[in-house]
Amino acid sequence: MHVQFFGAAQRVTGSMHLVQCGPHRVLLDCGLFQGKRSEAYDINRKLPFPAAQIDAVILSHAHVDHSGNLPSLVRQGFRGRIYATSATRELASTLLFDSAKLQQNDLRFVNKRRRENKEPEFHSLYGSEDVVKTIRAFRVRDYEESFEVMPGLTATFFNSGHMLGAASIRLSWAETKQTLVFSGDIGRYQDPMLCAPQVVPDANYVIMEATYGDRLHSDEVDAEGQLFELCQNVWKNRGTILIPAFSIGRTQHVVYLLNKLAESNRLPPFKVFVDSPMAVDATEIYRSHVECFNEQFLQSILQEDDRDPLGFRDLYYVRSAEQSKAINGMKEPLIIISASGMMEGGRILHHLKQRIDDPKTTILFSGYQAEHTLGRRILQGAEFAKIFGVEYPLYCQTMRLDSVSGHADQSELLRWINAVRDAGQLKQIALTHCELEPAQTLRQEMETQGLPPVMIPARGDVMNMEP
Ligand SMILES: [Zn+2]
Ligand SMILES: [Zn+2]
Repeated sequence: MHVQFFGAAQRVTGSMHLVQCGPHRVLLDCGLFQGKRSEAYDINRKLPFPAAQIDAVILSHAHVDHSGNLPSLVRQGFRGRIYATSATRELASTLLFDSAKLQQNDLRFVNKRRRENKEPEFHSLYGSEDVVKTIRAFRVRDYEESFEVMPGLTATFFNSGHMLGAASIRLSWAETKQTLVFSGDIGRYQDPMLCAPQVVPDANYVIMEATYGDRLHSDEVDAEGQLFELCQNVWKNRGTILIPAFSIGRTQHVVYLLNKLAESNRLPPFKVFVDSPMAVDATEIYRSHVECFNEQFLQSILQEDDRDPLGFRDLYYVRSAEQSKAINGMKEPLIIISASGMMEGGRILHHLKQRIDDPKTTILFSGYQAEHTLGRRILQGAEFAKIFGVEYPLYCQTMRLDSVSGHADQSELLRWINAVRDAGQLKQIALTHCELEPAQTLRQEMETQGLPPVMIPARGDVMNMEP
């Protein structure tokens, strides 16, 4: 039994690990690599193995850096099953159709320029017809319910608390009696809605995410206070708060915080818009998956018949383009939550363009801003912002709400791995889903705490799993 790391190896995106047990080849995640366009184009298109040779895929969660290249795999000849939790299947369906559409819109613009420069055109990785085939290959499995992936190879999902449906995956191979645990993305222990990450028992080998291996988040109470203060100040100045947020996860988290302020009468009477069709869909999916919620959150919903934690007076979910455009003309104080989360595209750019010269507007960042994105540049104090090819001077204020992260910080990662160590017979750990520096910091911390040997695999590296 061995595993080869093909993505999210010394970087964050493109999660993809190939497990081989005897004759079986099983893929853990098949994510999109996101980065500079030409590099991303090659890495995503050229799968590092023949797709037809993969027997099955097990998907940790719906985010595109984990699921987004599944339609390429299907397009290139994969005919097996894709196992996931039920919430993951629904969210992945929404995300993958959106991803196919985004690629087409994006390429139209890019190829026009490439034709002018007499460069060869890019082709989209996949279309909606490939997404349809992909969704049909999904097989849904519950948390903590073991199932046979291939003869002798059993898998189980455990809640990883990172987003709705997110899971850690445990794989047990009968022939050698060895167990591999893939953490997936690990969430927070104090998430206001989702369950805390579960302990995965019986691990011999672990592949573990380390996104924030070198960072400590501030806590949730701070986030509410921070948001309260900001709302007060902006309301006083009759301004607007623009919140770029990922449609799935961050948006619901921010809405929930605003809802808490509204319920305790601490939210000034802003009109609040969630302007993203995908966020509207995702919020509906959230409402129907009570199995992913923590006890406290469940109780708070059940206490009152009409309580909706993702809705309050003056909160409007916007789907159509006309409704979205109508927001542009509004002069009263507003809160606008819209995608994309890193300001790389989507409706948030239209809202930014509209209000970029207004010092009474505050851009509130709620999630990770990757290098080379507009979000990162603005957060670092850029004086100009390029929107749809035009440079605008930027007069907005900026602020960061960092505790709204979906990822465990260093102390939570250590808490997770120590619990896994105590519940199994751990021999080796591989750190993935992170830049090199946070991984090295975390490894050092793990060595200090006496954990088993830690590797930081590069793309193509192998971890052997011997009895
Ligand atoms: Zn994720
Ligand atoms: Zn991820």
